[in-house]
Amino acid sequence: MQRKLAAGNWKMNGTVADLSMIDSLNSAHPNPGCEILLCPPAHLLSQAVAQARTGPVRIGAQNCHSADTGAYTGDISAPMLADVGASHVIVGHSERREGYGETDADVKDKAAAAQAAGLTPILCIGESLEQREAGAALDVIRAQLAGSVPGNNTAETLVVAYEPIWAIGTGKIPTMEEIAQVHAVLRADLIDALGTTGATVPLLYGGSVKPGNAAGIFALDHVNGALVGGASLTAQDFSPIIEAL
Ligand code: 13P
Repeated sequence: MQRKLAAGNWKMNGTVADLSMIDSLNSAHPNPGCEILLCPPAHLLSQAVAQARTGPVRIGAQNCHSADTGAYTGDISAPMLADVGASHVIVGHSERREGYGETDADVKDKAAAAQAAGLTPILCIGESLEQREAGAALDVIRAQLAGSVPGNNTAETLVVAYEPIWAIGTGKIPTMEEIAQVHAVLRADLIDALGTTGATVPLLYGGSVKPGNAAGIFALDHVNGALVGGASLTAQDFSPIIEAL
Protein backbone atom coordinates (compact mmCIF):
# COMPACT_ATOMS: atom_id res chain seq x y z
CA MET A 1 0.00 0.00 0.00
CA GLN A 2 1.41 3.39 -0.97
CA ARG A 3 1.30 6.45 1.24
CA LYS A 4 -0.89 9.21 -0.15
CA LEU A 5 0.51 12.71 -0.46
CA ALA A 6 -1.06 16.06 -1.33
CA ALA A 7 1.91 18.33 -1.97
CA GLY A 8 1.74 22.03 -2.81
CA ASN A 9 4.54 23.72 -4.73
CA TRP A 10 4.27 27.46 -4.22
CA LYS A 11 7.09 28.13 -6.71
CA MET A 12 8.22 31.80 -6.49
CA ASN A 13 5.05 32.94 -4.74
CA GLY A 14 4.20 33.72 -1.15
CA THR A 15 4.83 36.14 1.70
CA VAL A 16 5.02 35.76 5.46
CA ALA A 17 1.33 36.70 5.62
CA ASP A 18 0.42 33.85 3.27
CA LEU A 19 1.68 31.33 5.83
CA SER A 20 -1.64 31.75 7.64
CA MET A 21 -2.82 29.15 5.14
CA ILE A 22 -0.98 26.55 7.23
CA ASP A 23 -3.28 27.28 10.18
CA SER A 24 -6.33 27.04 7.91
CA LEU A 25 -5.22 23.64 6.58
CA ASN A 26 -4.28 22.33 10.00
CA SER A 27 -7.69 23.18 11.43
CA ALA A 28 -9.63 22.03 8.35
CA HIS A 29 -7.86 18.63 8.25
CA PRO A 30 -7.10 17.51 11.81
CA ASN A 31 -7.08 13.82 10.77
CA PRO A 32 -6.39 13.81 7.03
CA GLY A 33 -6.47 10.59 5.03
CA CYS A 34 -3.20 11.60 3.39
CA GLU A 35 0.03 13.41 4.10
CA ILE A 36 -0.18 17.16 3.47
CA LEU A 37 2.91 19.04 2.39
CA LEU A 38 3.49 22.68 1.48
CA CYS A 39 6.68 23.74 -0.28
CA PRO A 40 6.98 27.53 0.07
CA PRO A 41 10.00 29.48 -1.19
CA ALA A 42 13.17 29.08 0.87
CA HIS A 43 12.93 32.39 2.74
CA LEU A 44 9.70 31.21 4.40
CA LEU A 45 10.78 27.71 5.39
CA SER A 46 11.84 28.37 8.96
CA GLN A 47 8.70 30.25 9.84
CA ALA A 48 6.51 27.77 7.97
CA VAL A 49 7.96 24.89 9.99
CA ALA A 50 7.34 26.78 13.24
CA GLN A 51 3.78 27.51 12.21
CA ALA A 52 3.07 23.94 11.05
CA ARG A 53 4.24 22.34 14.26
CA THR A 54 0.82 21.88 15.84
CA GLY A 55 -0.90 20.00 13.01
CA PRO A 56 -0.55 17.51 10.19
CA VAL A 57 0.85 19.93 7.58
CA ARG A 58 4.51 19.32 6.82
CA ILE A 59 6.92 21.67 5.09
CA GLY A 60 9.21 20.97 2.16
CA ALA A 61 11.61 22.90 -0.05
CA GLN A 62 11.64 23.37 -3.82
CA ASN A 63 15.29 22.67 -4.62
CA CYS A 64 18.64 21.92 -3.02
CA HIS A 65 22.31 21.80 -3.96
CA SER A 66 24.00 18.40 -4.07
CA ALA A 67 26.94 19.50 -1.90
CA ASP A 68 26.58 19.89 1.87
CA THR A 69 28.46 23.21 2.16
CA GLY A 70 30.77 25.31 0.04
CA ALA A 71 31.29 28.28 -2.23
CA TYR A 72 27.93 28.16 -4.02
CA THR A 73 26.52 31.66 -3.72
CA GLY A 74 22.75 31.70 -3.54
CA ASP A 75 22.35 27.96 -3.10
CA ILE A 76 20.98 25.97 -0.18
CA SER A 77 22.06 22.45 0.76
CA ALA A 78 19.95 19.52 1.87
CA PRO A 79 21.43 19.48 5.42
CA MET A 80 20.50 23.18 5.69
CA LEU A 81 16.91 22.37 4.74
CA ALA A 82 16.87 19.55 7.28
CA ASP A 83 18.34 21.92 9.86
CA VAL A 84 15.30 24.22 9.64
CA GLY A 85 12.90 21.30 9.84
CA ALA A 86 11.92 20.62 6.23
CA SER A 87 10.80 17.03 5.62
CA HIS A 88 10.86 16.90 1.80
CA VAL A 89 12.53 18.64 -1.12
CA ILE A 90 11.38 18.81 -4.72
CA VAL A 91 14.18 17.90 -7.14
CA GLY A 92 14.25 17.91 -10.93
CA HIS A 93 11.19 20.09 -11.47
CA SER A 94 10.89 20.84 -15.19
CA GLU A 95 11.22 24.55 -14.43
CA ARG A 96 14.71 23.77 -13.10
CA ARG A 97 15.59 21.20 -15.76
CA GLU A 98 14.55 23.67 -18.50
CA GLY A 99 15.43 27.00 -16.90
CA TYR A 100 18.69 26.04 -15.20
CA GLY A 101 19.89 23.18 -17.38
CA GLU A 102 19.63 20.53 -14.68
CA THR A 103 20.38 17.08 -16.08
CA ASP A 104 19.27 13.66 -14.87
CA ALA A 105 22.71 13.26 -13.27
CA ASP A 106 22.30 16.57 -11.40
CA VAL A 107 18.85 15.53 -10.21
CA LYS A 108 20.16 12.15 -9.07
CA ASP A 109 22.92 13.84 -7.05
CA LYS A 110 20.42 16.23 -5.46
CA ALA A 111 18.06 13.37 -4.59
CA ALA A 112 20.91 11.39 -3.04
CA ALA A 113 22.01 14.46 -1.05
CA ALA A 114 18.46 14.94 0.17
CA GLN A 115 18.21 11.34 1.32
CA ALA A 116 21.57 11.53 3.03
CA ALA A 117 20.31 14.55 4.97
CA GLY A 118 17.17 12.68 6.04
CA LEU A 119 14.85 14.45 3.59
CA THR A 120 12.49 12.74 1.17
CA PRO A 121 13.09 13.93 -2.39
CA ILE A 122 10.04 14.46 -4.60
CA LEU A 123 11.66 13.60 -7.90
CA CYS A 124 9.94 15.17 -10.91
CA ILE A 125 9.87 13.84 -14.44
CA GLY A 126 7.73 14.69 -17.46
CA GLU A 127 7.69 15.15 -21.20
CA SER A 128 7.31 18.29 -23.32
CA LEU A 129 4.45 18.79 -25.75
CA GLU A 130 6.75 18.13 -28.71
CA GLN A 131 7.86 14.86 -27.16
CA ARG A 132 4.27 13.77 -26.50
CA GLU A 133 3.17 14.70 -30.02
CA ALA A 134 6.11 12.75 -31.42
CA GLY A 135 4.95 9.66 -29.51
CA ALA A 136 8.06 9.76 -27.32
CA ALA A 137 6.45 10.54 -23.93
CA LEU A 138 6.96 7.11 -22.40
CA ASP A 139 10.55 6.81 -23.62
CA VAL A 140 11.39 10.26 -22.25
CA ILE A 141 9.93 9.76 -18.79
CA ARG A 142 11.36 6.24 -18.47
CA ALA A 143 14.82 7.56 -19.34
CA GLN A 144 14.43 10.40 -16.83
CA LEU A 145 13.36 7.94 -14.14
CA ALA A 146 16.24 5.58 -14.87
CA GLY A 147 18.71 8.48 -14.91
CA SER A 148 17.56 10.39 -11.85
CA VAL A 149 16.56 7.88 -9.15
CA PRO A 150 19.45 7.51 -6.71
CA GLY A 151 20.87 4.21 -5.55
CA ASN A 152 19.46 3.57 -2.09
CA ASN A 153 15.76 4.02 -1.60
CA THR A 154 12.99 2.98 0.69
CA ALA A 155 9.30 3.70 0.29
CA GLU A 156 9.74 6.34 3.00
CA THR A 157 12.65 8.09 1.32
CA LEU A 158 11.45 8.57 -2.25
CA VAL A 159 8.46 10.13 -3.97
CA VAL A 160 8.17 10.34 -7.77
CA ALA A 161 6.03 12.99 -9.46
CA TYR A 162 4.93 12.75 -13.10
CA GLU A 163 4.41 16.28 -14.41
CA PRO A 164 3.86 16.63 -18.15
CA ILE A 165 5.45 20.00 -18.92
CA TRP A 166 2.62 21.04 -21.22
CA ALA A 167 0.08 20.55 -18.41
CA ILE A 168 1.87 22.82 -15.93
CA GLY A 169 0.04 26.09 -15.39
CA THR A 170 -1.92 25.69 -18.63
CA GLY A 171 -5.25 24.30 -17.44
CA LYS A 172 -4.70 21.37 -19.81
CA ILE A 173 -4.32 17.85 -18.48
CA PRO A 174 -3.67 14.55 -20.24
CA THR A 175 -6.60 12.19 -20.68
CA MET A 176 -7.27 9.85 -17.77
CA GLU A 177 -6.05 7.00 -20.00
CA GLU A 178 -2.77 8.80 -20.64
CA ILE A 179 -2.17 9.48 -16.94
CA ALA A 180 -3.05 5.87 -16.07
CA GLN A 181 -0.73 4.55 -18.77
CA VAL A 182 2.23 6.63 -17.61
CA HIS A 183 1.71 5.75 -13.95
CA ALA A 184 1.43 2.03 -14.74
CA VAL A 185 4.68 2.17 -16.71
CA LEU A 186 6.43 4.12 -13.94
CA ARG A 187 5.21 1.65 -11.32
CA ALA A 188 6.51 -1.28 -13.36
CA ASP A 189 9.89 0.41 -13.87
CA LEU A 190 10.15 1.26 -10.17
CA ILE A 191 9.46 -2.38 -9.25
CA ASP A 192 12.05 -3.54 -11.79
CA ALA A 193 14.62 -1.15 -10.40
CA LEU A 194 13.84 -1.27 -6.68
CA GLY A 195 11.97 -4.53 -6.09
CA THR A 196 9.33 -4.43 -3.36
CA THR A 197 10.32 -0.86 -2.47
CA GLY A 198 9.29 0.16 -5.97
CA ALA A 199 5.77 -1.10 -5.32
CA THR A 200 5.33 1.27 -2.40
CA VAL A 201 7.03 4.49 -3.54
CA PRO A 202 4.27 7.13 -3.80
CA LEU A 203 3.63 8.25 -7.39
CA LEU A 204 2.16 11.73 -7.75
CA TYR A 205 0.55 13.39 -10.76
CA GLY A 206 1.20 17.11 -11.30
CA GLY A 207 0.02 19.64 -13.88
CA SER A 208 -3.15 21.74 -13.59
CA VAL A 209 -4.61 19.71 -10.72
CA LYS A 210 -7.66 21.63 -9.51
CA PRO A 211 -10.56 20.98 -7.13
CA GLY A 212 -12.70 20.02 -10.13
CA ASN A 213 -10.43 17.37 -11.64
CA ALA A 214 -8.65 15.96 -8.58
CA ALA A 215 -11.09 13.17 -7.71
CA GLY A 216 -11.00 11.73 -11.23
CA ILE A 217 -7.20 11.74 -11.26
CA PHE A 218 -6.95 10.20 -7.78
CA ALA A 219 -9.29 7.36 -8.78
CA LEU A 220 -6.69 6.08 -11.27
CA ASP A 221 -4.48 3.11 -10.41
CA HIS A 222 -0.98 4.01 -9.26
CA VAL A 223 -1.86 7.67 -8.63
CA ASN A 224 -1.04 8.19 -4.96
CA GLY A 225 -1.49 11.93 -4.79
CA ALA A 226 -0.64 15.18 -6.50
CA LEU A 227 2.00 17.85 -6.79
CA VAL A 228 -0.09 20.99 -7.07
CA GLY A 229 1.11 24.42 -8.19
CA GLY A 230 -1.41 27.24 -8.59
CA ALA A 231 -4.19 25.52 -6.66
CA SER A 232 -1.93 25.11 -3.62
CA LEU A 233 -1.68 28.85 -3.04
CA THR A 234 -4.95 29.17 -1.13
CA ALA A 235 -6.67 26.90 1.40
CA GLN A 236 -9.87 27.41 -0.55
CA ASP A 237 -8.41 25.58 -3.58
CA PHE A 238 -6.04 23.17 -1.83
CA SER A 239 -8.48 21.86 0.82
CA PRO A 240 -10.88 20.21 -1.62
CA ILE A 241 -7.91 18.54 -3.33
CA ILE A 242 -6.78 17.14 0.04
CA GLU A 243 -10.32 15.95 0.67
CA ALA A 244 -10.53 14.27 -2.76
CA LEU A 245 -7.45 12.26 -1.87
P1 13P B 1 0.15 23.83 -11.71
O1 13P B 1 -0.66 23.02 -10.73
O2 13P B 1 0.06 25.31 -11.46
O3 13P B 1 -0.12 23.42 -13.12
O4 13P B 1 1.71 23.48 -11.43
C1 13P B 1 2.09 22.16 -11.34
C2 13P B 1 3.50 22.09 -10.88
O5 13P B 1 4.42 22.44 -11.60
C3 13P B 1 3.73 21.61 -9.50
O6 13P B 1 5.07 21.35 -9.29
